[in-house]
Amino acid sequence: MDPNQQQQQLHVVFLPFLAQGHMIPITDMARLFARHGVKSTIITTPLNAPLFSGKIDRDAQLGLQIRTHVVEFPAAEAGLPEGCENLSRANESFEMVVTFYKSMELLRRPVEELLQQWRPDCLVADFPFHWASESARKLDIPRLYFNATGSFAMCLCECLNRHQPHKRVESDSEPFLLPGLPHEIRVTRGRIPGEFRPEVNDDDPSVKELRDLMLESEVTSYGVVVNSFYELEPGYPEHYKHEMGRKAWFIGPLSLSNKDDMKHKAERGDSAAAIDRHESCLRWLDSKEPNSVIYICFGSIPIPFNADQLREIAAALETLLSRQISFIWVVKKEEWLPEGFEERITEGGKGLVIRGWAPQVLILDHGAIGGFVTHCGWNSTLEGVCAGVPMVTWPLQAEQFLNEKLVTDVLKIGVGVGAEEWSIQERKIIVGREEIQSAITRVMVGEEAEEMRSRARKLKEIAVMANEEGGSSYFDMELLVQELTDLRD
Ligand code: UDP
Repeated sequence: MDPNQQQQQLHVVFLPFLAQGHMIPITDMARLFARHGVKSTIITTPLNAPLFSGKIDRDAQLGLQIRTHVVEFPAAEAGLPEGCENLSRANESFEMVVTFYKSMELLRRPVEELLQQWRPDCLVADFPFHWASESARKLDIPRLYFNATGSFAMCLCECLNRHQPHKRVESDSEPFLLPGLPHEIRVTRGRIPGEFRPEVNDDDPSVKELRDLMLESEVTSYGVVVNSFYELEPGYPEHYKHEMGRKAWFIGPLSLSNKDDMKHKAERGDSAAAIDRHESCLRWLDSKEPNSVIYICFGSIPIPFNADQLREIAAALETLLSRQISFIWVVKKEEWLPEGFEERITEGGKGLVIRGWAPQVLILDHGAIGGFVTHCGWNSTLEGVCAGVPMVTWPLQAEQFLNEKLVTDVLKIGVGVGAEEWSIQERKIIVGREEIQSAITRVMVGEEAEEMRSRARKLKEIAVMANEEGGSSYFDMELLVQELTDLRD
C-alpha cells in the first residue's frame, strides 16, 4: 500500500471484553472491517492473545490490515487470582465475577495511552468498558458500543426497565405481557435476567452503580454495532432505533461474514492436540446418518450444574440412543458423569462426550446434526440459526431467557426446557430426564421437528444472503464505514 493510501485508510480499534462470547464475535467483526478496507487493531491481554492469533495471522498473510496489541492485565491489583484474565476463570463465585467486571477499569489508563499515541478514527468497545465513550470523546472520535447480544433482548430489557411489569405480578411463575413491543411477548419473573429480580440480586450498591454506568454508556456512545441481521429479529432493529432512539448498525451474523474460512475455525489458537481431537469429532459425525445427532453445549463458561442435574441429562441421552438419536455432549473438565456412562456410550461409537472446548461451529454445520440443546447465549443462538438446526432452549442466566423467547415464540424454531422459577444462584430446580427426552425428541423427529427444521433452514439461507453484496448486513456495514469516513474527513 502506498503511503498516501495508508494515510487515508480508516483505523478502528477494538476492545473486547475478556470472555470467549465477546472475543469471538469481536475478532470476526475486526476481520469484517479489515475486509472493508479498514485497518483493525484489537487490544487484548497476554493470556487471551493466543485466542485471536490463528485467524488474525492468516488474514495478515492475505494482506489485510489487522493485528492484536497486548496490554498487561494487573489481576492481583484487581483482587483476582494470578492469571485470571478470562471470565470463565473468574466464574467461581458471584463475588469474583463482579470483581472481574470491576477490574476492567484497570485497562482504562493503558488503553487511553495507546489511543493518544495511535489517534485512531473510531473505538469499538464492549459494554463492560463503560469509560470508553469518555476516552473516545477526549480524542474527538466516535465510540461504538457492542454488547454481544441482539436487538430483541435489548428491546425487552429496556421494556422491563421502563415499564417494570415484573413488579406487578404475584408470583415468579405468573406470566405477564411486555408492553409496546412488535410482538405479544409473555414472560415470567422466574425467567428474566437477574438484574430485574431483586431476590436473586445482591445488595451491594456498587453492582447497581456498575450496571447503571454500562447502561448509560450505551446511550451516550456514538452508536451501537449489533451482531444480528434485520430479518432475524423482525421489527426489533427498527424498534431499537426509532422507539429507543439508538443509532445502530446490524452487521451480523459475524461468524458468517468470514465464512470462506469456516473450516479453519478449529485453528483459533488451538494446540495440535486440540485440532486432532476436533478432527476426530468431525470424522465421528461423518459416520452418522443425516439429522440423527443432537449437540448439547452450554457455552464457554463452565455451568454450575449439580450432580443430580448431570445425572438426569445423562439418563435422558442414554434412553434416546435406543431411539436412534445419538449425541455430542460438551462438558467442562471438572464435571462429574455417572459411573460407567462414558464407557457405555463410547462403546460402538454410540455417543460422544467432549471435555473442554468443542469446535462448535463446525459441529453445528455438519449434516449429521439434527438439533442443538443450547443455553441461548447469543453467539450460540446465532450459530444455531446459521446452521439451520432447530434448538432445545435451556437458558440459565442473563439475557439468555430473552433470546429463548425469540427462538421459541417468534421464530418458532425451538422448544424450551427448564423450570419457570429458575435461579442460577440457588440451582435447586432440576430438569428431569423425561422433560429433557421429550424436548429433544420434539426437535429431532416427527412432523413438528420437520416444520421447525424447514423454518430454520429458510433462516439460514436468509442469514447467508444478508452477508452477501446487496444484503442487509452488507449494506449496513458499507453505511457504517462511509459514516466513519465522513466523520474523519
Ligand atoms: N464455544 C465453542 N466451543 C465450546 C463452547 C463454546 O466453540 O466448547 C463457542 C461458541 O461457538 C460461541 C461461544 O463459544 O461462539 C459462546 O458464546 P455464547 O454467547 O453462546 O455463550 P457464552 O459462553 O458467552 O455464555
